[in-house]
Amino acid sequence: MDRKFKDKLIITAAITGSRILRDTTPYIPYTPEEIAGSALECWNAGASIVHIHVRDPETGLGTQDLELFRQVVEPLREETDVVINLTTSGIAARNLSFEDRLKSLELRPELASFDAGSINLGKGVFVNPPDFLDLAAETMKRLKVKPEIEVFDSGMIVTAVQMRNEGKLADPLFFEFVLGTPYGAPATPKSLVYLSEIVPENAIWSVTGIGRAHLPMSMMALAMGGHIRVGMEDHVFYKKGELAESNAQFVERIVRIAREYGRDIASPDEARGILEFQRERG
Ligand code: ZN
Repeated sequence: MDRKFKDKLIITAAITGSRILRDTTPYIPYTPEEIAGSALECWNAGASIVHIHVRDPETGLGTQDLELFRQVVEPLREETDVVINLTTSGIAARNLSFEDRLKSLELRPELASFDAGSINLGKGVFVNPPDFLDLAAETMKRLKVKPEIEVFDSGMIVTAVQMRNEGKLADPLFFEFVLGTPYGAPATPKSLVYLSEIVPENAIWSVTGIGRAHLPMSMMALAMGGHIRVGMEDHVFYKKGELAESNAQFVERIVRIAREYGRDIASPDEARGILEFQRERG
């Protein structure tokens, strides 16, 4: 791998999330087969990371059911070399214990989401208290799962850096800025510039914009040397008034723009190098 690979663009596809239902878009993947199939298409299109939630077959909402995660992860491990990022959010499932939220880690994904603080999210509260963060960090460290530190507001960077200083998180930190949520940091150029300036110098960052903010945020990241997340977890319209029919459409568009711009796309192994994974593929 040449040194230049560090400048390449990592595209993450966030396949389904936990909250957008079929009444919003009929194209959102629900079943493990649909989720794995969509992830496979995104990998084919150029995504090096897939961020995975699974859905309760009854309610359609997110669940942390280990068996459902397994049904997504196993075919992806067999058929692709994509980096698998499993959620620990448990946000749409009710009354989950901390341990239940971390169930997905038993599959030892290379990455898992680590939401570095609590925040209002729509009408609810996304609860990530310090004792949960300590348990999540400790479990990820033990299982050699790299945290994808999701940041909804600037204090979450302060939290992650503090935990790094205490030896709970390891360098280089990998941040995912999730901008434009109700009621987190706005998805504006100034907001992204600010957040990218307060992460540690050796940190790696990626950004996703909620709803129509995804394109301006992607373009900013392309130019600033950051990385990009797209997908139906965060936005369902391909353009104004037109629903995306697949996640791959979003990945394909970023690949086309990046090529035209002159920034190469990182392969999964190059993404592993950029993120400095400390373990063999799993
Ligand atoms: Zn997620």
